[in-house]
Amino acid sequence: MSTLELKNINKIYENGVAAVRDFNLEVKDKEFIIFVGPSGCGKSTTLRMIAGLEEISEGELWIDNSLVNYVETKDRDLAMVFQNYALYPYMTVYENLAFSLRVRKLPKKEIDEKVRKTAKILQIEELLFRKPKALSGGQKQRVAIGSAIVREPKLFLMDEPLSNLDAKLRAQMRVEIAKLHKELSTTIIYVTHDQTEAMTLGTKIVVMKDGIVQQIAQPKDLYENPINKFVAGFIGAPAMNFIDAVVRVRYRELYLEVLDQEIQINDFLSREFYAKGYVNEKIVIGIRPEDISFLTKEEQDVSQDSIITVVPDLRELLGAEANIYFKLANKTFCAVVPADNNIKLNEPTQLVMKQNKMLFFDVTTEENIFSIQKNKNFA
Ligand code: ADP
Repeated sequence: MSTLELKNINKIYENGVAAVRDFNLEVKDKEFIIFVGPSGCGKSTTLRMIAGLEEISEGELWIDNSLVNYVETKDRDLAMVFQNYALYPYMTVYENLAFSLRVRKLPKKEIDEKVRKTAKILQIEELLFRKPKALSGGQKQRVAIGSAIVREPKLFLMDEPLSNLDAKLRAQMRVEIAKLHKELSTTIIYVTHDQTEAMTLGTKIVVMKDGIVQQIAQPKDLYENPINKFVAGFIGAPAMNFIDAVVRVRYRELYLEVLDQEIQINDFLSREFYAKGYVNEKIVIGIRPEDISFLTKEEQDVSQDSIITVVPDLRELLGAEANIYFKLANKTFCAVVPADNNIKLNEPTQLVMKQNKMLFFDVTTEENIFSIQKNKNFA
């Protein structure tokens, strides 16, 4: 059983860098928490404060209802896995796995049982008597994870554990870590800058930018209801399209003006834009590439959704799907469509945006105008 709470945590380094500001998070037992965000946003600093490797400038850190700000790393009952595997080069895999247990002076038989059980879970039994230099990157990383699980800690902290692996191995290890989380039924906090890892592994994702938590939510909520333009653009690949528009009114009916084109909007959206005072204001439309489709000649003008005319200028075939690129006011946008589409390049084509999937952002605050998550620390 392990719970964790960060209350108003701040980190200001000696050189004055405010790396983490007012970080609040409650982690329940067995959650898989992801800290995600661009490089330098404060993910590792936060993780290192949880580990006790970095002093907390301000705020409280609670593990299992004890205040641990001043508890040493070794007494926090946690294990860390880093991106550089941190194995002892002159020891065999067996000795690497056994090391922390030997330090704790466990009986030999118990150490042997735990090492073999861990090796079995990670499928590295046949590697036990090799030295790290005779292992591949993926195998080394498995041993590093093994040295963490063998101790059966309350809490696992992982800092970009897969970032040194090639793409194929990374995808494989991602699946293994997800399985491991289920198997060990333990609490994991995992740092990554990779939104795919975040979306596939996390039960809850903390998105950070410039030391500040932007949003805490489950993957699906984050994807469907990002609190601001930053989160919307960071989560999802290919990234969300952002289209400049103005909310216009004609005979009390609202529509969106995109360049010289008009997008009709439904009554619900009209009422909301009125209520929130956006009539004649600039906004930004957010639409994910997979929520855009193109109309065939026969379908044109009959769709209920939001239509504009564009000129597709590039097709990228990915297998089952294709990315279609088009420009509006010199900015490039992307749509994901089935590979067997018959979209003609360099010809004016009507595209449809699913109206119930469109998001709208305030130009100044960049906040999602209709976000239902008013509290950024909503979890
Ligand atoms: P991330 O893990 O998201 O890439 P970090 O937590 O490593 O980000 O860094 C957050 C910010 O703190 C960055 O601006 C970084 O340059 C700064 N920083 C990290 N470590 C130190 C340090 N030891 N001393 C001063 N500044 C640091």
